[in-house]
Amino acid sequence: MYLVKIYKDSSKIDGVGIFSGEFVPEGTIIYYHSSEDNYLLKTEFLSLSDDEKERIYKFGVEDEDGNWVVTDGDANHSCDANILSLFVDGIYCDIAAKDIQAGEEITIDYGLFYSSFQWTMMCKCNSPHCRGVVGSGLLVEPQTQELWRSRISQAASHIFDVRQPLFSRGDECAMRLTSAIRSKRDPKIFPYIKFSLIS
Ligand SMILES: [Zn+2]
Repeated sequence: MYLVKIYKDSSKIDGVGIFSGEFVPEGTIIYYHSSEDNYLLKTEFLSLSDDEKERIYKFGVEDEDGNWVVTDGDANHSCDANILSLFVDGIYCDIAAKDIQAGEEITIDYGLFYSSFQWTMMCKCNSPHCRGVVGSGLLVEPQTQELWRSRISQAASHIFDVRQPLFSRGDECAMRLTSAIRSKRDPKIFPYIKFSLIS
């Protein structure tokens, strides 16, 4: 569930993207996996048809046990993404890794996701950091790992400096995530990123 105003519009990167309807400061948790979102167990996923799996590959985020978080947004990939993904005590969320202006497209780095299947795509993000081809099973260059690591750490260091719409939500997932974040004195948040599995 998104915690900031978003809208869909045509994207300069690819097809339709999601855009921010408000200014979002760096460090804001902008999305979390709530009970309203779909969660597919590995066994349920494996019983799907190939077409349905294809859809989940595109819109889902796989955890290390092969279960899937299926998000409702469709953020385009950028090698210079303005949001990045975290699992905090096992709960999936996305954090603004930069200040995001109203009207700016929200982008995420697909290369950061763990994936049990191999895929690649040519990137059209046009950013100065563009890696050209992104996908799973590709070697992640040390400079990319460092970029993710430093941006996630920097964004996490602002979590308590900015207004967090998450903290005032009353549903169970939001409260669990809030307490997980608040329990980290120095928010010690572990990004769920594939280089942690291969380095
Ligand atoms: Zn790129």
